[in-house]
Parts: sequence; structure tokens; C-alpha cells
Amino acid sequence: MKAAIYFMSIILGAQAATLNAAPRPQGAVSIRTYNYAALPAATLSESRAEAAHIFRQAGIVLEWVECRVPGSIDGAACTEPLLVGRDLMLRLVDRVPTAGARVVALGESMLDREQRGGVLMTVDVFPVRAIAERASAAVSILLGRAIAHEIGHLLLASPEHPRLGLMRALWSHDELRGAKPAYWGFSSREAAQMRETLRQLTRRAD
Ligand SMILES: [Zn+2]
Repeated sequence: MKAAIYFMSIILGAQAATLNAAPRPQGAVSIRTYNYAALPAATLSESRAEAAHIFRQAGIVLEWVECRVPGSIDGAACTEPLLVGRDLMLRLVDRVPTAGARVVALGESMLDREQRGGVLMTVDVFPVRAIAERASAAVSILLGRAIAHEIGHLLLASPEHPRLGLMRALWSHDELRGAKPAYWGFSSREAAQMRETLRQLTRRAD
């Protein structure tokens, strides 16, 4: 049976981020993380490792920056301008879902039609925890996959969900328990497209 897990992507109008011209190694993306969910450091670190592993298979290095959230003294101020497609922002939130909702969104990405990309994604830890428990899967692994899925939307500049692979819309409990690369990785076409996007952005920034 398919679990009622659904990833939702929202297309919004121009929310232009400030551009800067700092060069970075090709195939690397920096993720500024805002841990509003107060997720324990160990869980966060395991989730990052899972997302980084998925992207390494696609030839892309993920770098992580811990950004300070209100009420916390940890993390950097993260005030430097963002480079579209190279610096991404991840908000981890912990929201109690609306009662009676049949599909649960684990995350969302804000894509900009004109920029053909976006910088902001949100992943909700509340349903991630609930689903991981029901599927007897590790919270950190599911969270890492959810983060990788949202980064995928931003780098592919697409709200689409193909039938197979990490970018599919529905994740069953059986699939969640397993580690089949076919379920939790990008297709070679998606990987090539993301690397090409990063190459073009690097060229534009230089
Ligand atoms: Zn999605």
C-alpha cells in the first residue's frame, strides 16, 4: 500500500535573491540551514550525511552552513548575499499538521519561473518523525532524503515528480525501510542536468 506521503512544490513569482560573484568549485552547493525545529545536532548531522551521500552519487558536493535562528546563540549570522542556485536556504520547521489531511507534505521548495531556479526550501520535521515511526525507518535518513528531494527541485528548477527515483511523489513504507539506490537517488539524466546548471551558474558568476 502506498503511504500518503506527498511532496508539494510551490511556484511563486519573482522573489529575487541578491547575486554576488564569489567563485566556488564546480559541482558544489552550499546549504544554509536554519534549524527552527530545534532538531538535535546528531540527527541533523546524520540527515546531512544522507543528503550528501545522495548528491555525491550525482557528482555534486554539498557544503553545510549552520545559520543562527532567533533564541539561539549557535550558528553563523549568515548575512552574506546569496548566489542563486549555489547558495540554498533550508528551513527546518516543526508544524502540527491540519487535522484530517490525507496527504502530508514533507517539504516544499520555492521556484521562480523567471530565474528558472530558487533558493528557499522548507522541510517539516513533524510528519517526517511520524512517518519514520510508522514505517520503522530512521528519522535522520528520511529527513536526509526529504532534504535531498527539495534540493533536487531547486537545482532541477522543476516542480515535476517523475515516476521513479528520489524525485517521485509517493514514498511507501516498504521503500522507506530499504536503501535501494534506485529509490533514493537521482537518475543519470537528472544528475547531468543539475551539474550543467551549476556549471552555467559558475560561468555566469566568474
Ligand atoms: Zn517534490
